[in-house]
Amino acid sequence: MFVVGLTGGIGSGKSTVANLFAIRGVTLVDTDVIAHRITAPQGIAMPHIAAEFGEEFVAADGSLDRARMRSLVFSDETALKRLEAITHPLIRAETEREQREAQGPYVIVVVPLLVESGTWKDRVNRVLIVDCTVETQIARVINRNGFSRDEVLAIIARQATREARLAAATEVIFNENMPFEELEAQVAAMHELYLSLAQG
Ligand code: ADP
Repeated sequence: MFVVGLTGGIGSGKSTVANLFAIRGVTLVDTDVIAHRITAPQGIAMPHIAAEFGEEFVAADGSLDRARMRSLVFSDETALKRLEAITHPLIRAETEREQREAQGPYVIVVVPLLVESGTWKDRVNRVLIVDCTVETQIARVINRNGFSRDEVLAIIARQATREARLAAATEVIFNENMPFEELEAQVAAMHELYLSLAQG
């Protein structure tokens, strides 16, 4: 299967762009959705998390106690590594399974940390970056999530820089001051490109 990795910083417009591909019939594989599913009740990561961290990290419904885990990994870098050692291989396996089962000439895998997490780049045929200025990211996330400016800046500081992301791109959508119709037209053009690359 021909695989397009879609990424961008928080608030860049990844989800918006991904949805525009989806309405053109492209199958989306979303690694955030998978990460959430494997730690939901009966999620395949949960027995491993219980064994590694203890039953106190499992909520009454069998899902991950997210607040408890968040506060642990926030102050303990090794705990974050132990958690990721469980979740990353499972997310990778589930992503590959969904890619294999996908219909259509190509699939888009949405990976928020594609550039940050080394090995992803080798597992996709193309890298589509949704880019915008940091000021626009801040304004959108304040508007969408009600976060403070400092909270958004702290998240951006933990992500790759625009430069690092753009260096990894095979295609870029500069989603800045972009009317929706224009964004749709750019997605339509990318879709044609990916169709021809996938078939060629
Ligand atoms: P991401 O998934 O990268 O965090 P989203 O797609 O959720 O970003 O977009 C962040 C916010 O900005 C959303 O509220 C979205 O509706 C808005 N947004 C995205 N692109 C545009 C645009 N071109 N014009 C206006 N608002 C936009």
